[in-house]
Amino acid sequence: SLQGGSLGAEQEGLVVAHFGTQVEVESGAGERRRCHLRANLGSLVTGDRVIWCEGDPTGVVVAQLDRKSALLRPDNFGQLKPVAANIDRIFVVIAARPEPHANLIDRYLVASEAVGIEPVLVLNKVDLLDGDDALAAQLDSLLTPYANLGYQLLRVCARAGGSVALETALNQRISIFVGQSGVGKSSLVNSLLPGLDLRVGALSELTHKGTHTTTTAQLFHLPCGGSLIDSPGIREFGLWHMSRDQVEQGFREFRPHLGHCRFRDCQHQQEPGCAILDAGQSGAISPARLESYRRIIASLEADR
Ligand code: GDP
Ligand code: ZN
Repeated sequence: SLQGGSLGAEQEGLVVAHFGTQVEVESGAGERRRCHLRANLGSLVTGDRVIWCEGDPTGVVVAQLDRKSALLRPDNFGQLKPVAANIDRIFVVIAARPEPHANLIDRYLVASEAVGIEPVLVLNKVDLLDGDDALAAQLDSLLTPYANLGYQLLRVCARAGGSVALETALNQRISIFVGQSGVGKSSLVNSLLPGLDLRVGALSELTHKGTHTTTTAQLFHLPCGGSLIDSPGIREFGLWHMSRDQVEQGFREFRPHLGHCRFRDCQHQQEPGCAILDAGQSGAISPARLESYRRIIASLEADR
């Protein structure tokens, strides 16, 4: 065993939780170890890949490997800070009830596009569509345009125990679930991670005795394959502040038209020679998405 400040060999690891100045690192063999950070390291977040060494009483993280992606959230000073790293997919959960709104769906999709992570739409509570043809038709007309934009759409019922399609989409990837309260995120997570009550079990178990209970993001391995990073804050991703540029880029069907407006600083509201409005006229961009764009931009201005 290691003693007198000596360190073990360098090895690769995965940050699975974060506690104040320390992190929980998982080794390649799947063992978890509390580590402190060597002084020159920036801030690490759950999902980060690192180089670390065994030590006594805690291990030491000596280097941070490149991030494939990062969820960024503005802090109190408006500075963007990472809150989780290396996420491959964002599952945007909506439900047959409460009734989903296009504008909210667009917000989640735009935020996902802005950080370069592929969103997947998950319609939960499909059991409520049994015998309700009107609701089924209404949801079809709401959701078909997203499938036409190339977004994957999964229909699931957490109450019946999840779905094979969802498990396949989660497999071999690191994912997060986002969405409005009441759509069934906890139910889905519980169906994927049986025996774990996210709000009580795992979080408090990992928290140091006597220290303030933090609710930072944690990484869980799913029995179906793949991993989930979750926390109450992460579930609200998509409602965080975005820049105007991110919003523009986040509407994926806008991209071929951006840069073709007459005015370089065109806001695509009512300017002459606006390529986005022209695309709206020709049917290449739907009126609902243009309306969503305007509403999201207006909400950014209200935020300031
Ligand atoms: P969260 O706020 O997104 O985490 O949502 P919850 O998981 O707490 O679920 C909100 C409510 O929806 C609860 O009453 C669940 O029992 C219910 N619910 C979740 N999944 C389903 C489902 O597939 N079908 C139906 N009918 N209800 C569900
Ligand atoms: Zn324009």
